[in-house]
Amino acid sequence: MKAASKSELFRKLPSLDELLHQPELGFLVEREGHPAAADAARTVLARLREEISAEHLDSAAVDLALAGLPQAIERQLQHSLGYSLRPVINATGVILHTNLGRAPLSSSAIEHIKEISTCYSNLELDLARGERGQRDVHVDRFFRKLLHQEVGGEGTRARDISTIVVNNNAAAVLLTLNTLAEGGEVVVSRGELVEIGGSFRIPDVMAKSGAILREVGTTNRTRLADFERAINERTRLLLRVHRSNFQITGFTEQPALEELVALSQRRGIPLVEDLGSGALFDLQSVGIGNEPGVLNSLRAGVDVVTYSGDKLLGGPQAGIISGRSDVVTRMRSNSMFRALRVDKLIYAALEATLLSYVKHDHDSIPAIRMMRLSMEEIGQRAHLLAQNLESSNVSAEVIDGESVIGGGAAPSAVLPTRLLAVSAKGLSADDMAARLRAFNPSIIARVEEGRVLLDLRTVFPEQDDYIVQALRNLAD
Ligand SMILES: *Cc1c(COP(=O)(O)O)cnc(C)c1O
Repeated sequence: MKAASKSELFRKLPSLDELLHQPELGFLVEREGHPAAADAARTVLARLREEISAEHLDSAAVDLALAGLPQAIERQLQHSLGYSLRPVINATGVILHTNLGRAPLSSSAIEHIKEISTCYSNLELDLARGERGQRDVHVDRFFRKLLHQEVGGEGTRARDISTIVVNNNAAAVLLTLNTLAEGGEVVVSRGELVEIGGSFRIPDVMAKSGAILREVGTTNRTRLADFERAINERTRLLLRVHRSNFQITGFTEQPALEELVALSQRRGIPLVEDLGSGALFDLQSVGIGNEPGVLNSLRAGVDVVTYSGDKLLGGPQAGIISGRSDVVTRMRSNSMFRALRVDKLIYAALEATLLSYVKHDHDSIPAIRMMRLSMEEIGQRAHLLAQNLESSNVSAEVIDGESVIGGGAAPSAVLPTRLLAVSAKGLSADDMAARLRAFNPSIIARVEEGRVLLDLRTVFPEQDDYIVQALRNLAD
């Protein structure tokens, strides 16, 4: 039999209209709407035409493709109408992983978001007076509770601490520098001119804020005298920046916070600290020392601290500015604040997260709960997974390792953990990690020294079974 010509094959294809009127497609048109269904059908037909043109299909193959058109269109619809942003399973053991969305929100945060965002709210309405109110009162109240009890009173001069919230910590630093130092100089140690991934670099943010950077000291050593000498009539601010993602070790020196506070008070120049990751609970309790807390800094007398809502705080993305009320009030009236403000969803999530702190219900905040998990608890789960993988093609072993706080907490902030090390015959570690990512939801693992490592610290326990199933399927 003579092979069908291209034009004969093209004639077999239905028109778009004919296709959409096929009974099998009726329900798709109804469910997803005519425009989306037509778009998907057009894409599938175009693909088929291309394959015919390229002579990839003979007559029988075209008949087969035609019989499968409704299914092909449904798949195309699923692909084009599916969300791009989707959940993944974090088995890396990095608790605040910036690429994976940092802190997962607590269930009370989600409930509060839902409650506030599906109807109207008193976001900017003072209900008692019936007048326009300020949106930041909704969280300042809990920040006051959390920060005041510790900072105010007690021998030292009592300080009134206020808090405002902006889009992220980068915005918090920008607003702070612009409000307090535009046109003037800001003194910073050369050891703290940091880059925090992406495009956050202290010198660049400084330039955008309109303040002039006055670097002092050296990369490894900066003394109080360096700060003192740099102060002149143009100095507006002393700035300290937390070294979030690197360490300087060896021959190093840095003035103590207390010394900087004393200098700032002596010369009447405010001291600002960019903490990056601000913790509102005692990190020592989970074995992490040397991480600056918001309270430590305010208690030591720092005028203003900036920190992220989605790092150690465990809440939504936000930049938080806490400090002396008179200074924070100036920031609130800067027109830049209006451009950097956050919406009601963030206020709702933050208010709920803060309430967990007020109630000392730390375990309801997922990131904090993960930090508090013991190595034994994680080890038990890992052993159970290993057991469930026996009689599969995956070999699994439980080994010691370290989880990382991440997201710009100190690079030294690690927690001992137990890891599930998995491998499969004929599959490289990179291939295995890629296959785990290809599941939906994806499983994100670590690859180290030719092995795939899964840290259950960052996996929600209800996801453990899914991981076993995925591992069993991947090596079949
Ligand atoms: C993370 C970090 C920032 C940036 O914070 P975002 O919330 O990501 O904008 C700035 N400074 C320091 C010290 C940080 O650790």
